[in-house]
Amino acid sequence: MEVTLAVIKPHVLRNTYALQQIKTLIEENFRVLGHKEVHITKELSDRFYAEHRGKFFYHRLTTFMNSGPCYALILQSEASVQKWRRLMGPTKVFRAVYTEPQCIRALYGLSDTRNACHGSDSEASALREIGILFPEFDVLAVADRESKKRT
Ligand code: GDP
Repeated sequence: MEVTLAVIKPHVLRNTYALQQIKTLIEENFRVLGHKEVHITKELSDRFYAEHRGKFFYHRLTTFMNSGPCYALILQSEASVQKWRRLMGPTKVFRAVYTEPQCIRALYGLSDTRNACHGSDSEASALREIGILFPEFDVLAVADRESKKRT
């Protein structure tokens, strides 16, 4: 069983219908090991998006993530990283709309910055990102305990 981190971006949190639809989709597809509303401060977004520092969209992205609360979830399933990324769809919203019109980003994304959600790109990234947004959470211990419950 693999874990991944999902983050619902600020504009979706202000859209109760969209947030509920996404939560339902998540509950149908994953075991939710942890979830919380989180304010991604400048300091947190600098750590979270360190690999993008220096890119043209970096300031726009970190400012947006800082503009209101986000909703972060630790998800567990078989191949959860790829599963959540498939549900999100392509990073760029125009591509999502044309190629996968039912994906989350096609339905609720507004622009490449405001593309509705984040998903880790590997389990190693997930553990790093979970450590930033859920410092209190011992993800390995919880994931292990959940796996044992089912064996
Ligand atoms: P993701 O894994 O699909 O979220 O994509 P990345 O890790 O490559 O990028 C992180 C975030 O940066 C994305 O979710 C986008 O919000 C933003 N981003 C990436 N590429 C672009 C771009 O070309 N333009 C803008 N405005 N934002 C981008």
